Order: sequence, then C-alpha cells, then structure tokens
Amino acid sequence: MLSKQNITTLKGVGEKRAALFEKIGAPTVGALLRLYPRAYENWQVSDSISEAPVGEVCTVCARVLNRPTEHRIRKGMTLYKVTVTDDESDLLLTFFNNRFVQNLLLPGETYLFRGRMNGSLLRKEMTSPEFLPQGKAAQLIPVYPQTEGLTSRQIASAVQNALLLLPDPLHDPLPDTIRQQYELCHLRFAMWNIHRPPDESALAVARRRLIFEELLVLQLGLWRLKSREKAENTCPLEKDYTVEFEKLLPYTLTGAQKRAIREAVADMRGDHPMNRLVQGDVGSGKTAVAAALCYTVVKNGRQAALMAPTEILAAQHFESLSKMYAGTGVRVALLTGSLTPAKRRKLLEELESGEIDLAVGTHALITDTVRFRNLSLVVTDEQHRFGVEQRTALAEKGEHAHMLVMSATPIPRTLALMIYGDLDLSILDERPPGRQPIASYRIDSSKRQRAYGYIRRHIEEGRQGYIICPLVEESESDMASVMEYTRRLREEVFPDLRIGMLHGKMKPKEKDAVMTAFAAGELDLLVSTTVVEVGVDVPNAVIMLIENAERYGLSQLHQLRGRIGRGKYPSTCIFLSDARGEEANERLKIMCSTDDGFKIADEDLRLRGPGDFFGSRQHGLPQLRIANMADDIEVLRQAQACAKALLAEDPELSAAEHRGLRAEVRQLFEQAENLRG
Ligand code: ADP
Ligand code: MG
Repeated sequence: MLSKQNITTLKGVGEKRAALFEKIGAPTVGALLRLYPRAYENWQVSDSISEAPVGEVCTVCARVLNRPTEHRIRKGMTLYKVTVTDDESDLLLTFFNNRFVQNLLLPGETYLFRGRMNGSLLRKEMTSPEFLPQGKAAQLIPVYPQTEGLTSRQIASAVQNALLLLPDPLHDPLPDTIRQQYELCHLRFAMWNIHRPPDESALAVARRRLIFEELLVLQLGLWRLKSREKAENTCPLEKDYTVEFEKLLPYTLTGAQKRAIREAVADMRGDHPMNRLVQGDVGSGKTAVAAALCYTVVKNGRQAALMAPTEILAAQHFESLSKMYAGTGVRVALLTGSLTPAKRRKLLEELESGEIDLAVGTHALITDTVRFRNLSLVVTDEQHRFGVEQRTALAEKGEHAHMLVMSATPIPRTLALMIYGDLDLSILDERPPGRQPIASYRIDSSKRQRAYGYIRRHIEEGRQGYIICPLVEESESDMASVMEYTRRLREEVFPDLRIGMLHGKMKPKEKDAVMTAFAAGELDLLVSTTVVEVGVDVPNAVIMLIENAERYGLSQLHQLRGRIGRGKYPSTCIFLSDARGEEANERLKIMCSTDDGFKIADEDLRLRGPGDFFGSRQHGLPQLRIANMADDIEVLRQAQACAKALLAEDPELSAAEHRGLRAEVRQLFEQAENLRG
C-alpha cells in the first residue's frame, strides 16, 4: 500500500528531507501522489520572437548564435549576454552573475527560453530567462507547493519516482461502471497526467477525473453523516398547528414561507430528526417561519430554543415572538449573558421543569448549566456566525432534537449544497407583499453635501438613517473613520440631530444600548461600521449612505442595504465611492441594478471566487485538494447524482467494488476532524 509506505523509501529522500515532505503534507508515497501541482508553467512555445508580446511571460524556441560574452560592470556584478534567433528575428538574453550559462548554452544548439519579454518591437530582450534544451522539455512543468529547503523541482523528481512505484494492475477506487458512465479516465492515467501532463488535453482529462473523485467522496461523506444523524425521530410531531399559528399573524404568509414551513413540518413528522437549512434573503420573513415551527412544537407539549448571534437580535426575536404568541399561553423567555445571577437561576429552573416552552437567547443557551425538560426543536438564526459545533451542541441538549438553521446569506444553490451538504434546503425566494422597493444610487464625494441634504429632509419628516463607514480610528487618511466622522457630523453637519455611533471595538453592552436607542427612535442617525449588518429590524430607518462602498463585497453590501426598506416607507441607499476601477464600477452597477440577494451572490461568486463567502473555513468542511467550488459546478452536479445513486444502491458502501471509496470517505473526514481538533 503506497498510502502506508514511508516517503524515505523513495530514492534521494533521507530523514532530513522526509521532514520537509511531511511539512507539505506528504509523509507517505501515497500522500505525495495526492499532492497535486498548484499550477503548471507553460513551456509550450507561445510565439515566434517577433510576435511575442512585450511585457508578458513567453516561451520561445531559439538557437544560440554566439558564445555568451562576459561584461564586468562593477565589482561583484558580471553580465553575460548572448543572442539567440528563431531564424526570423533575434533576441538578446542577459544573465546576471551566472557564469554557468557559458557552459550551458552552446552555440548552434536550440533551447526553449521562458521569461518576460522586454525591449521594443524592433529589439527584443529577456533578462535571466529559464531555459531547457529543446526536446528535453516537457511542455507543461508542474509547480508544487514548495517549502523552504524543498523546491518544486525536487518535489517533482520525488513524484516521478513515486509514479514508477504505482502497482500494476493499480486498484482504482472508482468502479469501472462509474468510470464508464461518467466518462472518467483510470486512476493510473490520472496520476501520470496530473503530475506529468504531455499537453493541456491530457491534463484536462486527468483533472476532471480527480475533481470528480474528490467531490464524490465529499458528497458520500456528507450524506453518510446526514444519514447517521438520521437515527430515529424521537420526537415526532403528532399534530400540525401551523394553520392555527397563521391566524395569529397580522398578515398572510408568502407562498415561500408556507412551503418552508410545510417542508419542515413534514420532516418533524417523519422517521428522522429534521436537519434543515432555510435560506432567505434579508427581509424574506424567516422569523415567522421559525415562529410557526416553534409554536407547533410547543403546542405538541415540547420545548423549543432559538439561538441568535447577538444580544440585540435575541432581544428582538424575543419581542416579536412574544407579540405573535400573545394570548396563546406559549411561555417565552430570553436567556442572554447579561441576566443577573438570580434571574438566571430562576430561568434555568423553569427551563428544566418545563414551565418555559421556548427559550430565545444567545450562545448563552449552549452553556452546560442550561438544561431542558424535553427540547425538541433548535433554531439557529444567521447561522454563518456560528460554527457547526455550536449548533450541534445546542441540539444535543435534547434527544435527537430537530434542527433548523436560518441563513440570511444567499449563496448559489450548488455552493449551498456543498457547504451545507449535511442539511436539507428550503429557500425563501419571495418577498412579503407591499414591500417598498429600495432605490439605489452611486455617487462620488463631490455630491456628498447633496446626500447630506437628502438625509436631513427625511429625518425632518420623522424617519431615521444609517451612515456606514469602514474604520474605527483614523488610520488610513483617505478613508472615513467612524469616530472622526461622527464628530464632524455632530459638530458641523447635523448639530441639531441626535447621532449615535456603533463600531466593533465597543463592548457588547454599549453596542446594545446604542442599537436599542436607535430602534426606539431616540436617535435620528446611526453612524456605524459593518457591525450593524446582522439582522436588526428598524422599519422607520429609510436611508442608508455607505462611504467607500468599493471596499465591501457584494454580499456584504447587500446585507447592509437590507437594514432599510423594512417598513411602509420607500427607502434609498446611496453608495458613495470615488473608485474609478472597472471592477469597482461593475460591482456597484450590479448593486444599483438589482436587490435580489441570490443574483448578487452569483455575481459575487463570479467576481471574487468562493473563498470570501464565509471568510475562513468556518463551515468545517475538509479542505479540497483540487476541486474549486466556483469553477467545477458542473462536475459537482455529476458527482452529486452519482453519490445519490450509489447510496441508494449500497448505503453502507460495503460491496467489494465500493470499498475503495469507503476508505477514502473515512480518510477525508478523519483528516477534517484532525484539522478541527
Ligand atoms: P428576515 O428574513 O430578514 O429575518 P424578518 O423575519 O425580520 O426577515 O421579517 C422582515 C419583516 O417582514 C418583519 O417586519 C416581518 O414582520 C415582516 N413580514 C414577514 N413575513 C411577512 C408577510 N408574509 N407579509 C408581510 N410582512 C411580513
Ligand atoms: Mg432575521
């Protein structure tokens, strides 16, 4: 087994070098083979010398005309110059302090030269190009993730030796049937061609197969996790009370809200605990969905919990739920870190005895001392702020409790499937009716005074507004800083208005106090960093001015803008930016042309790639080696279809031809555990 074979068994790898291989994640020969190049240097001859574009990295094929000449320009600095030709034009090469070129570049011989093309159209030059003798050069040279003391070339040569050790015949974890159905090459071909591709098309074939395999294993693993959680449903709902709940509301639910509720109720009445993600754009009414489900659970004689990422959000949920449940006998409590010890003790008792039906709170809900009598439903709001472990920790306070996760970050569906592959998905893709659209504009700073005038008019009519700026202190001179900015507004621009300030360096208590005052209408204007983005609901706030709008990602701008347009008044969002770049222009244009969060998410993914969606790897997935969530969506679809069919046929992957896959699944998730722990 190559996966067990120590890297030191390779020729040229001693103990010292083995430590370096271990550092880059290849302690064994098998692991080394799965260490794929992160790029390929293209040594395909790109152009003739005359056509090679100046300023770009090119590869040209040329014959050496003369022996390199030596030029001592000052002490310790010697240049070597040599002219090469492709029989159409000449190219002048210069090397610094590299006397070996005199031995390596032989007059009359032909080489490939790769480097940045300089000079003019008439007289082309390259400085210190890399070169390989013609004929000896592979066209695509793999570039490995090197580390200090271990170069990409050294890794490549170890890989070459490892490839020679591949057993014959080589067992392929992908069964023949799957390879045929999805037109995938054999593992042996993939291994050779990912590491030593003769050309682009062989590389593409190898890549597609390895991406497929990786995504298939990931999907199999996620679905198996899900099916493990699909133990038995220990708290099936007997009755559905959601219709009764709807009558409590001053409005009718949207079709999307009804659908999400129906799907969740069906889960909770089924044979397995629910594990569902509700993805809804800002303002799509996720709270009502959660409220309907909590109500149903409570009416069935059980307890529910709703966890929000901040105290203010928890308080807001507590208030809106209490209002909705008025007169129904449902007992709701708010549990946050700021309770007095006495109140907290009382509340914990009531939770444990079952006198409280629904606990709304922050992560204070997760602490050990919190116990429930029969917790059956756990709802987590704005889940991307919580880790996977946190939501599970709360659910474990019940016995196979149902789990509902609500996310206000619209992400493309495929990406959602990948990240939340362990969850079923409901999408709220419909806005409640009667919502006033938000008008969005982009201006530059020459119009700032006019924007202030516009804000003032609305505040004089009794409305409120937000101004978002990026920094807390004045550290970068060109950017508005919250403190300095607020001071200027208070003293110079709006001395007569009540202005609050909010930023991430404030204590949670202070933040909550400001936010509460704003929500209560005691402040006219809130100057804030992005901390305000989490789902606070102040329907009277109708204006938002975002300074340096080019600094934010589209999804973040969308979240920010979602703070307005929540009431019966028309709202306006103003993006202020002096950025001239094409990308900034395009991004702000998108923001002004649509307020569909899913569309914006697609564009964001296209413009920035998936890395930024959740900041770091908060989602707790194993790291992918080769697949890329933005580019490989088509292969992902195929891998998902394949995983589904496979598990339907052989849920435990116990058939002989599936054992290879089963081992890979286990390995992938062990690795993820290790990374996390
Ligand atoms: P989010 O999905 O961003 O959490 P909320 O649950 O805060 O959205 O709802 C936003 C606003 O829309 C709230 O003021 C809520 O009362 C209102 N709302 C929710 N559903 C409906 C509906 N079906 N019809 C009218 N208003 C609704
Ligand atoms: Mg919300």
